[in-house]
Amino acid sequence: MNDDQHEQVLYARFGTSSPCWRLSTDSNALELTPVTGDVPAKVAISLSPQQASQIRRLTGVTSHAVVDVQMFGAPLRLHLVGKKLNSDTWAGTASAYDDTESVARDLVQGLSFAEQVVSEVNLVVVIIDRHGRIQRFNRLAEELSGLKEEDIIGHTVWALFMSPEEAADSCQNIAGFFNRGVAYDAERRIKTVHGERLFLFRNKFVQGGSGVDQQFLICSGTDITEQKLAQERLFRLANTDALTGLANRNAIQEKVRVAIEDAGPDEAVGVLFLDLDNFKKVNDHYGHEFGDRLIRDVSAAIGACLNDGDALARLGGDEFIVLAAKGTAHALEATAQRILERMRTPFAIGLVEVYTGCSIGIARYPEHGNSLESLIRSADTAMYAAKDEGKRTHRVFSPDMNHRVAEYMWLDTNLRRGLEEGQLTLHYQPKLWLATGMVQGAEALVRWNSPERGQIMPAEFIRYAEESGLIGVLGRWVMETAAKQAARWKADGHNLRVAINVSARQLVDTAVVRHFTEALHQAKLDPCLIDLELTESCLIEDEAAVIELIKQFRQLGAQVHLDDFGTGYSSLSQLGRIPLDVIKLDRSFVRSINADTKAQALVRSMVAVAQELDFKVVAEGIETESEEIFMKGLGVDYVQGFLYGQAMPVAEFERWLKDRQKLRLIA
Ligand code: C2E
Ligand code: CA
Ligand code: CA
Repeated sequence: MNDDQHEQVLYARFGTSSPCWRLSTDSNALELTPVTGDVPAKVAISLSPQQASQIRRLTGVTSHAVVDVQMFGAPLRLHLVGKKLNSDTWAGTASAYDDTESVARDLVQGLSFAEQVVSEVNLVVVIIDRHGRIQRFNRLAEELSGLKEEDIIGHTVWALFMSPEEAADSCQNIAGFFNRGVAYDAERRIKTVHGERLFLFRNKFVQGGSGVDQQFLICSGTDITEQKLAQERLFRLANTDALTGLANRNAIQEKVRVAIEDAGPDEAVGVLFLDLDNFKKVNDHYGHEFGDRLIRDVSAAIGACLNDGDALARLGGDEFIVLAAKGTAHALEATAQRILERMRTPFAIGLVEVYTGCSIGIARYPEHGNSLESLIRSADTAMYAAKDEGKRTHRVFSPDMNHRVAEYMWLDTNLRRGLEEGQLTLHYQPKLWLATGMVQGAEALVRWNSPERGQIMPAEFIRYAEESGLIGVLGRWVMETAAKQAARWKADGHNLRVAINVSARQLVDTAVVRHFTEALHQAKLDPCLIDLELTESCLIEDEAAVIELIKQFRQLGAQVHLDDFGTGYSSLSQLGRIPLDVIKLDRSFVRSINADTKAQALVRSMVAVAQELDFKVVAEGIETESEEIFMKGLGVDYVQGFLYGQAMPVAEFERWLKDRQKLRLIA
């Protein structure tokens, strides 16, 4: 048969020179079927196993194969164009191999379909060769770049679409990619007619025709700019403090964690924990909006004190953390100093100027904590220690601070219970007239008999009681107990005054005068035999208010003593304004007179001033006879100290009193 005859065979049998073909996995019979139904149905041609597997190699992309078969007893070379339809079927159109027109038409149809897909798909498709030269450039690529495919075919992608750095990078890598031939993804910033956009490219190698040179890279890209922005914004939201724009707790924890991970064996990671000292007061006084503005200004001010590379974060409220770029003890303390220095100048919010000091705790990894949590906890503990030391200062963490925190927590649960369960008692230390040696009265000093720890001295819990506010309840109990005791002694015929200690914190509550009155009434103590020992710290906050309270106490018949005189801040001029009865010379001055004459001169002048102001003087902490003699020489009125008697429980005090009276009778 000649060419025409072949073509006619197909036409005669199927009514078309290009019938449809079909092959399945379970049989090697190639089925040919007509396009129209008015001719005898399908014909099955048996293929050799090799021919069948050759066809089965066709993929989902339209391609072609040539097979030599026998048809109606004559040899026929068939050109099959088609592809894999599904998991077990391949199909397409067949033509006689020498029917060039049909073969070409089938190929063109298959190809133009593939072309159309490449062209219209909603992806940027760029096909390049191993030299980076563009071979295809689809419609979306044209639209986005504003370039025409025909103008850029053969140009390199580097020159057209990439920044010089990216181009150098990509140019260097491409040979390696081609040699390896493995698909890969790449994010690239591309200049488009809409500005620079971020694309994710899936890059896949395909073999075109024959030979290694005919390898191409198909780059298909999607614009992920928006998606990346929906991601970045979320990341920002989750890691930024809304009020200040600083990193938040989340973000700084992550940074510290990474810094710890990256720290070399000899490197330290340092953090500063900051807490404003009086922010709550400011917030309560001026309102939240004002407080927010202050926080913003403060965070900017702190930021300006930092070194390059330091990271600042707000943990919330008035707490901040700095992760220092350099973790040396020196650098950390220098930064803390700069911040404290800056905080000494006021912040101007509108017309108001406010001072807001801060307390800073410093901790270093690995010395003070070997994990993110323990490092930050240590810095926090050190910050509390700084507050404890009187605020507006910084402290470097030390392990005994942990002990103090634990102690504080123990007191928190146990002191209140101790008060409720009657574990507190008052001991009484005698006070004597120095000139006559007669007992004037006693100072009531509190003791705590803890079932767990035995006797606890006030130095160990009064400060906690003051900080926690428990001093209010405790102080009231002291008033009531002392008043009852004074009434009992009076009933027993003793003429004793009892002095109680009152903390500055107790005077903040003006109900203190009413509580005092009630304690006197309850004890039926009239006249009032209770005196009050106040420290100079009572006079700092609001002098006028305290003077008012002192007046009221004195009207009730109480004497007011200024305790620990000389250790505090009160100036001589201030002393003149306060309506006091007695000044108690602090123990430390009494002790110092043994050392040198300068100290003696100081004590002498202090007593002289008190006498000039018409105050009586008590010297406390007298332990030796020489101290007593010195005080006598100065004309001090009363003495108190171990030389005479320690603070004692009631029964012991009464025995002491009896012995004393016996002694005096003998003398
Ligand atoms: P303070 O008011 O200065 O009390 C004097 C302290 O010195 C007492 O310590 C007393 O035992 C001690 N002392 C007395 N004579 C001598 C002496 O000759 N040598 C030496 N070395 N010490 C002497 P105490 O009882 O431990 O009280 C300590 C502080 O606790 C008191 O200092 C007072 O500030 C406070 N405190 C005690 N009881 C109360 C209370 O009921 N309420 C309040 N708010 N504070 C109290
Ligand atoms: Ca006292
Ligand atoms: Ca004292």
